[in-house]
Amino acid sequence: MSITDLTIFQTIQLIKKGEMSAREVTLAYLDRIEKLNPLTNAYLSINDRALEKADQIDSKKLSSLSCPGIPIALKDNMVTLGMPTTCGSKILQNFHPPYQATVAERLQSSGAIVLGKTNMDEFAMGSSNETSFYSPCCNPWDPDRVPGGSSGGSAAAVAADLCGGALGSDTGGSIRQPASFCSVVGLKPTYGLVSRYGLVAYASSLDQIGPIAKDVTDCAFLLSLVAGHDKRDSTSLPVDIPDYVSALTREIKGLKVGICREYLEEGLEPAVQSALQKALSVLTDLGCQLVEITLPHAKYAVPAYYLVAMAEASSNLSRYDGVKYGFRESNTTDLNSMYRSTRKSGFGQEVKQRIMLGTFALSAGYYDAFYLKAQKVRTLIVQDHKEAFLNCQVLITPTYPTTAFKLGEMIHDPLKMYLADLFTISCNLAGLPGLSIPCGFDHKNLPIGMQIIGPHLQEKMILNVAYAFEQATSWHRKKPETR
Ligand code: GLN
Repeated sequence: MSITDLTIFQTIQLIKKGEMSAREVTLAYLDRIEKLNPLTNAYLSINDRALEKADQIDSKKLSSLSCPGIPIALKDNMVTLGMPTTCGSKILQNFHPPYQATVAERLQSSGAIVLGKTNMDEFAMGSSNETSFYSPCCNPWDPDRVPGGSSGGSAAAVAADLCGGALGSDTGGSIRQPASFCSVVGLKPTYGLVSRYGLVAYASSLDQIGPIAKDVTDCAFLLSLVAGHDKRDSTSLPVDIPDYVSALTREIKGLKVGICREYLEEGLEPAVQSALQKALSVLTDLGCQLVEITLPHAKYAVPAYYLVAMAEASSNLSRYDGVKYGFRESNTTDLNSMYRSTRKSGFGQEVKQRIMLGTFALSAGYYDAFYLKAQKVRTLIVQDHKEAFLNCQVLITPTYPTTAFKLGEMIHDPLKMYLADLFTISCNLAGLPGLSIPCGFDHKNLPIGMQIIGPHLQEKMILNVAYAFEQATSWHRKKPETR
């Protein structure tokens, strides 16, 4: 077993016992990145001060640090000092932010090392990583396939052991769907649990940062490092953060698990369907009771999500004008043509499409018909979940209807790609926590994920259900052949 095979939890034990140094750990990951990043394109940039940071950790009193010397990757939409933040876009090429995201600060003060910034769909718009200006990242389980998106680089980096763990962001599934495609654990926390200060906004009322990890314990641990109130984010929740790791008791006997029949039948790939059925029987063997619930407005979630997300994106992305950040088109004659040409060549096709659709949905005469209606649907979806949680404690769904698709296979059919988000987006519309955990493989050896959704701020329970499931199965131990 090599250093990069270890989980965060195992690595910390060895570092704290003095059996391994932060420098050794960091070097092992850097070596592996040098070997494998040309293949996966998971990282867009590497922290050239990572070893220096590791040496600083080695010279400190380790008992004062909760996460000494663990290399963590950040999706490239979280602003960092000393490394560029591109959001996978040409318009932010070479942009060096003058400040750090709260999550980066919290990781660093725990002793973790921000190892680099990972590839993503441009401005987090996509489900495949193919809208990245810097070429897509590929799936460690099959390099001809997508790692999922938009946090594909983070999920691929965790799956290929190119970091100890990673952070992604999730607006409509961008942590959970790539976690499912790459066979790792990904959690989108309750809206407001993790600070968005320094997260470049896509759709502010839906965006949330969360951990992507090799197993459930690491996922719980990473969450405890980054969660908690931040006065610099007005939507941050002033709540106490429990100890997510010690809550992993595996005790789930008698738990009521909600399943939505429509979700388990329609439009699923047969392998996903049968993996889910088997996963449900694992949960019943562990003492859970399955209850059928209905989510009557779920069929409107995709259109409502894309309207809200695009409307917010059209407003958030107006700040990229070539004046304040990153790229500016040269050879323009006046200010207006500079704005126009910069935005024309700085944004990719998908982003421009969404800005235009979002602007349209907000325009006079259409606002009520589209945006307002979508907000009403959002309220109904919140109510559906409230009612469902009167009868069950968690909800189980597939994370995504298919396993990883081929690069180029879906990119020219955006509608098909949008529709496949149906299982993940409701959590974002309702602000609920959702986690994806490996639950099987198809006949091509491609990973399948199961989603566990809970009521607001019930991360502890979701993680414990995931932990019980993980300990009863061995999917998380299987690794892609990128050795
Ligand atoms: N696939 C969804 C979208 O394209 C979700 C993206 C995300 O969560 N950032 O908007």
